[in-house]
Amino acid sequence: MLYFSTNKNAVPVDFKRATITGLAPDKGLYFPETIPLLSSDFFKQLKNKTKEQIAYEIISPYVGNSIPPEDLFNICKTTVDFNFPLKKINENIYSLELYHGPTLAFKDVGARFMSKCLSHFSQNNDKKITILVATSGDTGSAVANGFFNSLGVDVVILYPSGKVSKIQELQLTTLGKNITALEIQGTFDDCQHMVKQAFADEDLNQSMTLTSANSINIARWLSQQFYYFYALQQWPHKEPPVVSVPSGNFGNICAGLLAYFSGANIKHFIAACNTNDVFSNYIANKTFNPKPSVSTISNAMDVGNPSNFIRLLELFSHNHKHIKELISNCCISDALTSETIMEVYEKYNYILEPHGAVAYRGLQNYIEQNPNQKGFILETAHPIKFDEVVQKIIKKNIELPPSFQYLLQLKKNSVVLKAEFNELKSFLLEKAATP
Ligand SMILES: *Cc1c(COP(=O)(O)O)cnc(C)c1O
Repeated sequence: MLYFSTNKNAVPVDFKRATITGLAPDKGLYFPETIPLLSSDFFKQLKNKTKEQIAYEIISPYVGNSIPPEDLFNICKTTVDFNFPLKKINENIYSLELYHGPTLAFKDVGARFMSKCLSHFSQNNDKKITILVATSGDTGSAVANGFFNSLGVDVVILYPSGKVSKIQELQLTTLGKNITALEIQGTFDDCQHMVKQAFADEDLNQSMTLTSANSINIARWLSQQFYYFYALQQWPHKEPPVVSVPSGNFGNICAGLLAYFSGANIKHFIAACNTNDVFSNYIANKTFNPKPSVSTISNAMDVGNPSNFIRLLELFSHNHKHIKELISNCCISDALTSETIMEVYEKYNYILEPHGAVAYRGLQNYIEQNPNQKGFILETAHPIKFDEVVQKIIKKNIELPPSFQYLLQLKKNSVVLKAEFNELKSFLLEKAATP
């Protein structure tokens, strides 16, 4: 399988090259030249297959010769070694809980798969690679966790001081070893900007091998397909489901669309957004107008310029009509998100966190307008990760799962830096100079 750049101005590359480089040299995103079709046999056997078998069969054609089959199977196996239960909330709506992984958010799947691939590729390199990642919370911990203890890989995370939840901060700052947490006295946008400057800086690139790990990386994107199939394995109805995906950078929904184009039996998609409404504007006006992001309680979706949007267009050959037919849009306000968390808790005794609540409300609205439909939401994080918000709404304590209690005993360990590129640069140069 070869990957071309969405800017159509770079040489197509294989899976290995695309994963290592992240962004194509012409600044486009890598995209597979063909989308493999799964056989009818695959779907007939789906219910009997193990998670790792499914992951392996889906990803194999995309990886091609870049990783030997046995190694790839092991990478798949360790990527998905936790549960993906599809829980019934009510007659029509189910929740695919994607938060049973090591950092309690769906990003564990993509981040683990990507980190295991990158570790595989760096095995025989004598040169250390440094993964530089800006995070608003979930990405950083998932990536750090995926690379924890990997030989030859250092991870440096930038996060905005005071702007991540307590659990998120503990997850980011307590790993140690090859993981360093930089606490930036600024916003997430500042962190992202500093990382971009680092990748463009000649001195830095001469003294160390910097790699990005953000959501545009092909290994992260492709592997997010896995759990759509795990949901279909558990789907108890004859009619295919409507799937509601809480969307920010649109990586997750674009992975679902890949699964759909490979043959997954999904009826319809909902791109559930908060007040950040660029997708809704695109559906209404056929034009994509990025704008500054607005802060909401579902903050992992506070994105004004979704980086995977170009992949969405590519998936549909830029056909606005087809996009509109398969994907519905919605923008759910903070007030409605809170109301939904309250309502679902009171009526069904199910605790949603803000991102899942946005998806739930989007699906409920859709079902009201299109009766006799059933579907599921992707619940992308554990409510404990957003407990400050959720506890205020449902007025009940949320418990940290027992296997995470140890976190509360650990001591935060971060390096505080001003939101200035020179601070980051000096830090990295010093780090590169110490063996
Ligand atoms: C990252 C994230 C999202 C948004 O996913 P995209 O792939 O960026 O659309 C939704 N919910 C949570 C909890 C997240 O961390």
